[in-house]
Amino acid sequence: MAKTIIVSNRLPVKIQKVNNELVYQPSEGGLATGLGSIYKEGDNVWIGWPGLYVDNKSTKEKINDELKKNNMRPVFLTEEEIRDYYEGFSNETLWPTFHYFNNYAIHEQSLWEAYVTVNQKFCKEIIRIAEPGDTIWIHDYQLLILPQLVRYKLPESSIGFFLHIPFPSYEVFRLLPWRKELLNGLLGADLIGFHTYDDMRHFLSSVNRIVSLSHTNGQVEVENRRVLVDAFPMGIDYEKYHETAGSAETIKKEVRYRTSIGETKLIVSIDRLDYSKGIPNRLLAFEEFFKKYPNWKGKVSLLMVLVPSRDKVERYKELKEEIDELVGRINGQFGRLNWTPVHYFYRSFPLNSLSAFYRMADVGLVTPMRDGMNLVAKEYIASKLDKTGVLVLSEMAGASKELLDSILINPNDVDQMVEALNTALTMPKAEQKRRIETMQSSLRKYNIHHWVKVFMDRLHYIKERQMLLSTQLLDAEITEEISERYASAKRRLIFADYDGTLSPYTDDPTAAGPDKELLQVLKTLSQDEKNKIIIISSRDRNTLKCWLGHLNIDMVAEHGVWLKEAGEDFQLIDKVENRWKYEIRPILEDYVGRTPGSFLEEKDYSLVWHYRRVETGLGELRMRELTSHMKYLAPNMNLQVLDGECIVEVKSLEVNKGKAAGRWLEKYGDADFIMSFGDDWTDEDTFRVMPEHALTIKVGSAPSIAEYRTHSYKEVRKLLRTLSQTNRLVNNHHKE
Ligand code: UDP
Repeated sequence: MAKTIIVSNRLPVKIQKVNNELVYQPSEGGLATGLGSIYKEGDNVWIGWPGLYVDNKSTKEKINDELKKNNMRPVFLTEEEIRDYYEGFSNETLWPTFHYFNNYAIHEQSLWEAYVTVNQKFCKEIIRIAEPGDTIWIHDYQLLILPQLVRYKLPESSIGFFLHIPFPSYEVFRLLPWRKELLNGLLGADLIGFHTYDDMRHFLSSVNRIVSLSHTNGQVEVENRRVLVDAFPMGIDYEKYHETAGSAETIKKEVRYRTSIGETKLIVSIDRLDYSKGIPNRLLAFEEFFKKYPNWKGKVSLLMVLVPSRDKVERYKELKEEIDELVGRINGQFGRLNWTPVHYFYRSFPLNSLSAFYRMADVGLVTPMRDGMNLVAKEYIASKLDKTGVLVLSEMAGASKELLDSILINPNDVDQMVEALNTALTMPKAEQKRRIETMQSSLRKYNIHHWVKVFMDRLHYIKERQMLLSTQLLDAEITEEISERYASAKRRLIFADYDGTLSPYTDDPTAAGPDKELLQVLKTLSQDEKNKIIIISSRDRNTLKCWLGHLNIDMVAEHGVWLKEAGEDFQLIDKVENRWKYEIRPILEDYVGRTPGSFLEEKDYSLVWHYRRVETGLGELRMRELTSHMKYLAPNMNLQVLDGECIVEVKSLEVNKGKAAGRWLEKYGDADFIMSFGDDWTDEDTFRVMPEHALTIKVGSAPSIAEYRTHSYKEVRKLLRTLSQTNRLVNNHHKE
């Protein structure tokens, strides 16, 4: 049966050596709880680093066997890998950059190489156990390039990725020397999840600007795959925190702590020691608070828990010293024999103790400079069984997008934090209750189990969508069938658009002339007297003539204004009204004037505004402005406005590719093989006039009425080459 493979840097287990024996302790983290319902079932498995360095083979085997019993597979790392991949690239390059501390980030090629090597190691382990139909869910910033590595090895697999930290704005992300590799790495997934909408839009804008892929409703076309990008704010195990807060053990602890502290009001803050958590600012605000509101002296204390983290890194050591100094300064300045302003703990606590702290806290103070989500804020709310207490929360934490009934602050604004503390400490009980109840009901609903379910549902959704699209793909079997029909046909009509269909788009449209390969394949096909090749383009007639005029093919220029039969000159088919240009040209020129990099192309019967070389974003903005402007004018002037690949084209409504194609269909009514290729929506007009037995082939993944689909112009050429050879084989066969 298909299984689910969870992959994260750390396994959900703590392994310690006690008296030379290995002791295994399950991790209590939110992610481990949420995914526990998945990885412990059936053949499902969790792959990750076991969290300690092991150098001998027999210990590795022992750990392997023990973990296997609990559906876990270890990826062992060498000491250098732990240093360079984990402490180095993950924590000293990605972590600071993604939290907007980019001036703390180090950029070292050797660390990047270690990151790639370890991601490959994880990939190997996945490949070893993955089978067709399995779902792979990769977590967090240590494994950003893993989705692409897995995709190379298992192209059909179903891969989800979730980032637990913020995704920075393009302006910050682009500072990374490996920005392209990181984005392409992530785009190997089918679903990419973030905590908030802002993270998601930052990611999409980086994808757009750095790897030039745009999106529609969060869906990005990556080669032949549709990738979904979405926001999934992670919840907590609400019931666990709610129940723990009511347990006898927690209440016993609360009584003990209360006896030591006395009856002062309590503000609680709990964090890992990290520069992203805004701890110095918080202490500065607490100091200012007593200066501005001296009445609170002796009546309120801050209980601050800092969990040691990355303490070997210089930056963290410095931060610890700064905090020690600030706490000393506040306690030295305001403390009394019977009152300590800041109770400060530099260690971790078991769940019952944390729960007791949450219960006791009149105010929960959470002030990160930047945080993906912040679970402490949510745990505090869930633990408030009596529904009193106030959460003061930084608007830079992902949780602030959901917990709107907290007091939101900017952690850089010390005065605002001072006021927030006073407001929180004086808030009427009824107001506290209203706010806590609202937030509790939301956290109860959007809990960790809900998060896992929604993520998995979306992953299945996008996989199904992909399958739906891929059913129309032109595969080997269909190609074979087409070849057979081609070989047995007596008269063949082959219609093809030019740009994007036979040739790639280029920055300079005048440089998109046919290469040798294309000329060769068109030549071979057109030499067969059973064939009639018709190029239907929006290009002007002179360009087409210059590029393809020497071949034995027919052509349509400017969407159908001009026709050319092989060996003859272009002819105007209909007399098309052209006076509209006098009115429309100045408008388009105005857009050129306002948009550096854009230009106007004048064809005989249309005007085209090009924006391929305009700054990303500005081009799209102007395009939307121009099309809505034109769409207002167009109907009254009998014009059509087309927005194609970085162009907006205005032309007479009377002219379209379908009408032109109809002439050949009429003239060669006996054709028993008709095929039509096109890549943009002007080609839909051609597809629409094709008879039932014709083969219609769309290039790219946009919606289309065509019967089949290919990924790019390369496959179109390949198919045409195959057909030209099919014909030759058949001829040779007949000659023999
Ligand atoms: N935590 C803990 N023991 C402690 C202090 C905190 O287990 O002594 C837990 C806390 O309950 C929370 C997590 O550590 O679930 C911290 O998560 P958060 O999202 O707030 O911050 P992160 O450390 O992930 O940046």
